[in-house]
Amino acid sequence: MDSRKTQATPIFLPMTTRIAIDCLNCGHATSVPEERLPDFGLEPKSSLVTLSKRLVCRECGSKAVRTFRYVEDEDGPPLVPQ
Ligand SMILES: [Zn+2]
Repeated sequence: MDSRKTQATPIFLPMTTRIAIDCLNCGHATSVPEERLPDFGLEPKSSLVTLSKRLVCRECGSKAVRTFRYVEDEDGPPLVPQ
């Protein structure tokens, strides 16, 4: 018997993938859950490039926005804006 051979049980925690949106012009930042993308007429797995082309900053009207995905982990440390 090989006692070192342990089987890890994968545990899937409920996590939400969110998309952070930062305006490069005025610094306005927001985020949307990935599952809300259909609200913008996009597929849930749309590329961020596609998303970025659709976005206009609500504050200043700039199209220079940066987007990135992150996983919202309620047990982890909160994300701190730099
Ligand atoms: Zn802006």
